[in-house]
Amino acid sequence: MTPPLSSVLIANRGEIALRVIRACKELGIRSILAHSEADRDSLPVRLADQSICIGPAAVNLSYRNAHAIVTAAQLTGASAIHPGYGFLSENSDFVALCEAEGVGFVGPSAEVIRRMGDKIEAKKIARRAGVPTVPGSDGAISDPEEARRVGEQVGFPLLIKAAAGGGGRGLRVVESAETLAADLAEIMAEAEVAFGDASVYIERYLTDIRHIEIQVISDGVATLHLGERDCTAQRRNQKLIEEAPSPVIDPATREKIARAAVALCEEVGYVNAGTVEFVYDNVSGEHYFIEMNTRIQVEHPVTEMITGIDLIKLQLQIAGGQPLGLRQEDVQIRGHAIECRVNAEDAARGFAPSPGTITGFRAPGGFGVRLDTHLEAGASIPPFYDSMVGKLICWGRDRDEAIARALRALEELRIDGVVTTARFHEEVLNSPTFRSGAFNTGYIAEFMKVQHHAQP
Ligand code: ADP
Ligand code: ADP
Ligand code: MG
Repeated sequence: MTPPLSSVLIANRGEIALRVIRACKELGIRSILAHSEADRDSLPVRLADQSICIGPAAVNLSYRNAHAIVTAAQLTGASAIHPGYGFLSENSDFVALCEAEGVGFVGPSAEVIRRMGDKIEAKKIARRAGVPTVPGSDGAISDPEEARRVGEQVGFPLLIKAAAGGGGRGLRVVESAETLAADLAEIMAEAEVAFGDASVYIERYLTDIRHIEIQVISDGVATLHLGERDCTAQRRNQKLIEEAPSPVIDPATREKIARAAVALCEEVGYVNAGTVEFVYDNVSGEHYFIEMNTRIQVEHPVTEMITGIDLIKLQLQIAGGQPLGLRQEDVQIRGHAIECRVNAEDAARGFAPSPGTITGFRAPGGFGVRLDTHLEAGASIPPFYDSMVGKLICWGRDRDEAIARALRALEELRIDGVVTTARFHEEVLNSPTFRSGAFNTGYIAEFMKVQHHAQP
């Protein structure tokens, strides 16, 4: 058996770096933070047992610099690298480099990441595992004539998706056959620039859906699921508010979707934590696989809050070769949790980034309140990185209590010096439609339109 991890190099920043440091401390694992020059004075650097600067602020020279990160792991004698989310977390070349250099990786193998990271290949694997997928093209589409044929079959509007897309980018809705050829050429060019891969495919564009995803965890022997998260509250295909359990999923449906997720993981030999994403049709009640994220996700805490299971600790435990030590029946769901992503963005200015220095800071507290953030008074939010600066996760015995608690905590939260999306979250949580739980992925856009019209 592999020895448990003695030290871990964290190749990330912000709240997720701190999240991993905390799990390491509780497990007695030495935490080593690899950081850029811009993050030298950040809270995660000060709280890690050790830190090492891997390059300048620009992500390609630091957090996306595979060679610098692997070298940092070797120099510090780290037994494994935790990639967090974003950056190199789903980069199979990076994981292959770790494997070649004999550095551990907290996540699945390079081979599994490569296969599931290609959304076209992932859909093929899903179909092989008997998991329903959104109707669309069988594989990549590059020929306008073929696109037209597929378009006739699936109907309009349709969605062109980049095989290597992520973070809500690489998706394009096509309203009619007239613009299809031009849209295809454009999105292929964009995908080439953004992801270094021009492959795209076509899916039916479903309009009345919810985003339902299943958290899975496997030690290579047993694959368990930890229920669903509902990430229907999205803006431009990016998640804003996530909750668990979903307000619309009953136990029988949960079981059905979760079983599909586990079947898919078993088909590819998935090891460690992962998320299988589905869209759920509000009208038919059918679910369709869309993609798998082969890493820890931003919204993992809502699952932790309702199951009492620390997912990052499980990740570290599995990477150290230890068994899960859990059975499916040990996973019990209790209460309801809601997460608001707090971004340093100005909702009134089209969510423009709002970097700067935090001049005053007050964290909310009390029963059922969890704030995952690296912010503190004096901290700086550099302009080079993602604008998400924290996550407020609130637990309640039921959904109403979780919402009331989140509103109370948002009121307590104070972040001075930059504009954040905290006030916007209060407005959404107060809206009757959000409170009813009956909405779809288009809701936030509608909500913003109404808000905008209501303004003088
Ligand atoms: P990403 O890799 O950027 O997360 P996904 O494939 O997960 O891309 O899709 C992001 C979001 O786009 C989904 O959560 C969903 O809201 C929307 N979406 C994806 N596929 C479809 C589809 N076929 N029809 C309608 N909406 C979709
Ligand atoms: P998830 O699938 O986990 O919900 P996304 O699909 O939104 O998350 O992808 C992760 C996002 O997080 C990416 O858009 C990336 O730019 C961003 N990101 C990466 N690292 C960090 C970080 N340290 N702090 C905040 N955001 C980050
Ligand atoms: Mg996704």
